[in-house]
Amino acid sequence: MNLESLYQEVILDHYKNPLNKALHENPTVQVHHVNTSCGDEVTLNIHLKDDLVTDISWDGVGCSISIASTSVMSDLLIGKHAEEAIEILNSFVEIMQSKGAKPGDEEILGDGVAFSGVSRFPARIKCALLGWMAFKDALSQGLTR
Ligand code: ZN
Repeated sequence: MNLESLYQEVILDHYKNPLNKALHENPTVQVHHVNTSCGDEVTLNIHLKDDLVTDISWDGVGCSISIASTSVMSDLLIGKHAEEAIEILNSFVEIMQSKGAKPGDEEILGDGVAFSGVSRFPARIKCALLGWMAFKDALSQGLTR
């Protein structure tokens, strides 16, 4: 199996069995983000204890890339402190902006590296970033409370 089809498999797995997809009650912050170019929507709840992300839960509809990417994001960022979460988020954004040039560091991004190929398709980048941008928004709102 080549890397490309392995990555497609990873994305499909997360799409079929998305992690943390069921909203948990009493979040610190809830946000709703929409990617109008594709029709993807996500509602994201985060629970913070000081700057620690104790929980991320979400619900949404959309294409396989948006759903799978939000699943990976939630799995990676639960249990992280804000600063570390933003570092991981920034390295995901970096591969998304690389037009396929950056493979991503699996040590940091785990299954997130499976989306590196998506960055060659400008129309799909917003799909891959939807959940991550929702998290960034929710975190910044949560930290300023
Ligand atoms: Zn999409």
